[in-house]
Amino acid sequence: GDCAAALGDAAALREQLAANQKLRALDPPDVETLRRAVAEAAEAQESYALERARRREIGEKLAVLQGNIRVIARCRPPVACETASGADVCAVSFPAGCDGDVAVTNDAGLKQRFEYDAVFKPGSTQAEVFEAICPLVQSAFDGFSVCIFAYGQTGSGKTHTMEGPPDDRGVYFRALRELFHARPPGAAVAVKLSMLEVYNETIIDLLAEGGSRPKLEVRQTGAGHSVPGLTSLDVESLDEVQRLTERGGANRSVGGHDLNARSSRSHLIVALDVSTTVDGTERRARLNLVDLAGSERLSRTGATGDRLKEAQNINKSLSALGDVIAALAKKHAAHVPYRNSKLTFLLQDSLSRHAKVLMFVNISPAESNASETICSLAFASRCRDVALGAASNKPDAIELAKAKQEIRALKAKLAAAAPAKGR
Ligand code: ADP
Ligand code: MG
Repeated sequence: GDCAAALGDAAALREQLAANQKLRALDPPDVETLRRAVAEAAEAQESYALERARRREIGEKLAVLQGNIRVIARCRPPVACETASGADVCAVSFPAGCDGDVAVTNDAGLKQRFEYDAVFKPGSTQAEVFEAICPLVQSAFDGFSVCIFAYGQTGSGKTHTMEGPPDDRGVYFRALRELFHARPPGAAVAVKLSMLEVYNETIIDLLAEGGSRPKLEVRQTGAGHSVPGLTSLDVESLDEVQRLTERGGANRSVGGHDLNARSSRSHLIVALDVSTTVDGTERRARLNLVDLAGSERLSRTGATGDRLKEAQNINKSLSALGDVIAALAKKHAAHVPYRNSKLTFLLQDSLSRHAKVLMFVNISPAESNASETICSLAFASRCRDVALGAASNKPDAIELAKAKQEIRALKAKLAAAAPAKGR
């Protein structure tokens, strides 16, 4: 045993000696290089710490500039029938090195580029998407009202993003899970759930008992606007939520309509009333999660009669939504046109200047959808442009261009400073 140990020691010693000799054999310039490398490493460490601090600062500046309206684009993967035919080419691309950019090739072969707060590619997961909006959900604990919309043509992935299949849940369930499990320390949180549908400018209570679907109206009350008679139920677990949303979904299809077709022609709102009590002080917030009706244009559907009326009502409410967001972003606009549609009238207390608004613009990658995709992206850009204007007192073209430039510069800085991509 001792002998083996001694032999081992001798071997180690020999190795050490060889290494020392090698080191001594290095030319002086090599030693110099080594020293410089060590110094550089120390410098890098220091500037890394500095950059991290700067990153935080830039991030905060960015939040102020961007205001309370965010836009996130999400492109779904091709669905089976698109890949099967082989004929439907992908029209959507993601310019390298530009996180918030997405480009679409139009029917004439021209590439149009759009820029948002974030862009999620076809491979994105529900968890990644939720992570991007989680801070918004959490701000409900602080008493901020929040509206999250999914906008896009039928089949672009709105329901996938908001509801998601049972084995891959989307925003509704993840938001509720956050509200149940991520409450601030020492806080008592109570959540109430309502589920409504806005169809042909009527509001329908989807959680009403016994399969009745009472029509509701928005009324002005002392504290704001409310919907008298709307079912609002305490929820404490995801199982409960699951049961209730199933009930709501079933109510939605009453009337012999094909569920899918019907659901694409109405707006679905999951409304959460969140009450957070810390040290005897209660804060209330409303979180509206909205799966909007399909944004496809009338001309393509060739609608007549009832279909035409539905389509006109959808056009009206979606453009009213765009107008309200536009007015919100102008600090000094006297008038926000909430009354132009049931949807905006219903949501008006949560669509105030103090609320936080997030728009998902869902798009299809398919070439056959390119013109609808461009329309959706243009709508979303309009929301975002006005949102940028919110940061300045004079939201005119020059200010807007300046703000955009500043944001682009800040984002570039952020990208350059990023220690590691993603989290
Ligand atoms: P919309 O609600 O906008 O009409 P859906 O959410 O119903 O669209 O999506 C249309 C189809 O595409 C569905 O079959 C859905 O499962 C699929 N899909 C949408 N988004 C995704 C995604 N991110 N990943 C996988 N499949 C998706
Ligand atoms: Mg849908």
